This record gives sequence, structure tokens and C-alpha cells, in this order.
Amino acid sequence: MNRDYDAIIIGAGIIGASIAFELAKKGYRTLNVDKLSAAGAGSTANTCAIIRTHYSTLEGTAMAYESYLHWKKWPEYLGTRDERGYAEFRETGLVILHGGEHDMTVHIDNHRELGIPIEEWDLDTVKEKLPFIDVSAFFPPRRPDDEKFGNSTGKQLRGAIFIPGGGYINDPQLSVHNVQRAAEAHAAEFKFRAEVTEVRQDDGRVVGITLQGGEQVDAPVIVNAAGPHSFIVNRMAGVDDKMKISTRALRHEVHFVPAPDDYDLDKDGRVISDDDISGYSRPETGNLLLIGSQDPDCDPKEWVDDPDDYNRQVSDEQWQAQVLRMAQRIPSLPVPGQATGIVDLYDVSDDWIPIYDKSDLGGFYMAVGTSGNQYKNGPMAGLLMAELIDACEHGHDHDVDPVTVECPITGFPLSAGFYSRNREIVEDSSFSVLG
Ligand SMILES: Cc1cc2nc3c(=O)[nH]c(=O)nc-3n(C[C@H](O)[C@H](O)[C@H](O)COP(=O)(O)OP(=O)(O)OC[C@H]3O[C@@H](n4cnc5c(N)ncnc54)[C@H](O)[C@@H]3O)c2cc1C
Repeated sequence: MNRDYDAIIIGAGIIGASIAFELAKKGYRTLNVDKLSAAGAGSTANTCAIIRTHYSTLEGTAMAYESYLHWKKWPEYLGTRDERGYAEFRETGLVILHGGEHDMTVHIDNHRELGIPIEEWDLDTVKEKLPFIDVSAFFPPRRPDDEKFGNSTGKQLRGAIFIPGGGYINDPQLSVHNVQRAAEAHAAEFKFRAEVTEVRQDDGRVVGITLQGGEQVDAPVIVNAAGPHSFIVNRMAGVDDKMKISTRALRHEVHFVPAPDDYDLDKDGRVISDDDISGYSRPETGNLLLIGSQDPDCDPKEWVDDPDDYNRQVSDEQWQAQVLRMAQRIPSLPVPGQATGIVDLYDVSDDWIPIYDKSDLGGFYMAVGTSGNQYKNGPMAGLLMAELIDACEHGHDHDVDPVTVECPITGFPLSAGFYSRNREIVEDSSFSVLG
């Protein structure tokens, strides 16, 4: 391994690997360091990997759409082969069920403004397309121990929005390996089982990192892409108290149940986002249905102080809450006695919108606060960060005049200022995993 680089990226998840790919294409000699044993082995390994475009803001929608177009042409985007093959984008389309409490006009307007295909389904169309669901309205979502749990409001869903350009990636960890190989084709390097313990500085600028065991590696640019450990790395660099938006780790569960007999996942399996019960589902390998939650107010939030030490067991209470809510919508859903699923951490920002930015420390950058919704945005996060870093390292004052990146396919001018560490809270945010 070389002893010095143009840029060191802390983390080799989807975000860190994508930044390496874009910087390496610009000619930067990059090194990703990750304390785990492989690329994408952190929280990216457990992502639901849903690719969707409905965000609460125009910027969020534009970034997701541009990234979606990259996932659609994944091998072309990577431009190189991977001996393990490519991760697959299963483009099932995405249905958003709603009962009228949520403002769908923002999604419809954003999609129309950006030219993203979108359909509005009335209730009859919903019944025809999703014959296995109960169209009763239940809002607000409740815990199973609430005496009103399972009671319909007496009303029905208002309808749905269908976005054909959506789906999921079948193997998210393989997708990061794909990006690693693509970055390596441009001379990027990756070092695993290497934990960063110090961000070394001199005269207001970074000079390098120190690894567990004392090894030092130098670079004039260091990027925090440490996922749920982002607040620890920001603290290590001494920048955490010099930014308006902070990040912290939130425990999150996702569950698996067998698909109901009347729901043919191969034929009809779509991603379904259900605002009425605040849950979502998608097909999972093995004729399973994956069930997640959109963090309704009734569910307690489990903030985690130590991302290396938290309960990784699925809890019976949360299993029941998420699975039984989904069973309200899909009455034929089998509910096994044994809870199965995965547990991992979101890296949540104050407004659930990421921070893609520089910092007050020269040469120190961050791509953090991905808030449970940025796997899909890996391609554009990589490009945004590479352009931002390159501009700043060439003397541009991004805090005064935010860098704008033209999305390569759609041409949308994406301002990195939207993702500033010093922004005011984005009040239009959903303040949830929906972003
Ligand atoms: C359960 C769950 C479901 C999700 N579902 C979706 C979804 O459907 N769609 C979507 O778009 N997003 C989803 N997300 C969010 C998405 O997975 C994340 O936004 C994304 O994977 C974050 O990638 P990352 O590279 O920032 O973090 P990570 O993949 O966590 O990578 C960070 C890496 O940094 C390393 N690291 C940390 N500290 C150090 C250190 N000191 N030294 C060396 N290495 C270090 C870690 O080992 C880790 O590998 C979900 C997240 C979870 C947890």
C-alpha cells in the first residue's frame, strides 16, 4: 500500500465506494479504509435497497430520479466487469397507497415538473391491480396493544399513485462490490479490517489518518462516509460542534413473512408504500414478503449511543407492530409465530435529509446523515461529493457560493447547498425515512 494518497475515504459502503469511483475517474489517487472485512458489509448490507423517486422535496426527487437512471444501466454506468457478476435492479414499479391524510400533490407536482412518469389510480383501479388488499382506511397507525388497533376508520383509501420507475436491488452488498471494482479500474485502492482512530491535522487542515495499531496514512483530503458511525468520525475530526445539523444512529427493524397464497410475487410483486398504515413491503427472495415501517409516531425510537453495541435481535413487540399492521392491509398475510428479520442502524440527520458537504476543517468532507433513504442515491452522492471536493480543493468557497452539479442524464442543476451542514432545518421534509 502507498503511504500517501490524494484522498482517503473513511467507509466502503455504497456512499464511500461511490465517492471513490467518481474521484478516481477525476484522477484522484484514493484509498477507502473500512474496519469491516469487505465493501458494503456495514449498514448497506442490510438495506432494503428500494429504488424510488418520491421524496418530499424537488431536490430529493431529482437526485433519486437521476440515480434511478444510473441503476437502470448499471453495467454501463460502472464501465467495468466484476468477476462476481452484477447486482440486479428488479424494476417492479412502486405503488403509494394513501387515505387522504397525506399530501400527494407534492409528489405529483415534483414528478410532473421533472418529467418522471406517474399514474394516479382511483380506488377501483387499486382493487383491480391489487386484488389481495383490503382498501379500508386505518389511519393513524397504532401499536397492537392499543384497544383501537385493527379498527378501520369506516372510510376507505382514497386511491394510489403508481410510479413505474421503481423497484429494488436484489443484492445490495454485491452492488457495492461492483462499485469497488469499477473504482479499482481507475486505480482506487481499498483497505479492509482497518479502523480509523484519529484524523490527524496541522494548522487547520487534515494531513492524514491513524489506524488502530498505529499505522499512519497521509492525504490532504479526508471524507467521512462512515454511515451510522458518522458522528464518531466527525467528533474525531473536531467538527461536530461546528455545524448546525447533527447526525445520530437509530435502530431499525425489517421483517420477513411468507407471501400470501393469493399474492403472486413473481407476477404482481411490486414495492408498496402504504402511508395509511405507515408501512412498506416488497418481494424478497424465497417467496417472502419484506415488511418495513415508515416510523409512525406511535413507535418508540431507539437512538443508539454506541453503533458497535446495540441489540441486533428482532424484537417480538416490533415484529408484531409491523407485521400485524401489514396484515390489516393484506388479510391473507400468514403471520408465523417465530419473528424473523434484520436489525441495523440508520444514520439520521435532524431533518432526515443527508449532509453532503465540506466542513470547517480544511480538507475534511462528509457524506453522512443518510437517514435510511440514501442507498438508492449512491451514484449521485458519489458525483456530488467528487465535484464538491474538486471545486473546494481548487479554491472555490462552497459556503459562500454553493457548488451546483448538472445531473449527467436529466440535466437537472442539483445544488449541493441543499445538503449543507449549516442549513436551516428543511421544513418540507417528511421527517421520516421517506426523506
Ligand atoms: C434496515 C435498513 C433499510 C434501509 N432501506 C433502504 C431502502 O430501501 N432504500 C434506500 O435508498 N436506503 C435504505 N436504507 C438506507 C441505506 O442503506 C443507507 O443510507 C446507506 O446504505 C448508507 O451507506 P453508507 O455507505 O453511508 O454507510 P455504511 O454502509 O454503513 O458504510 C459505512 C462504513 O464505514 C465503516 N466505518 C465506520 N467507522 C469507521 C472507522 N472509524 N474506521 C473505518 N471504517 C469505519 C463501517 O464499517 C461501514 O462499512 C436502509 C437502511 C437500513 C439500516
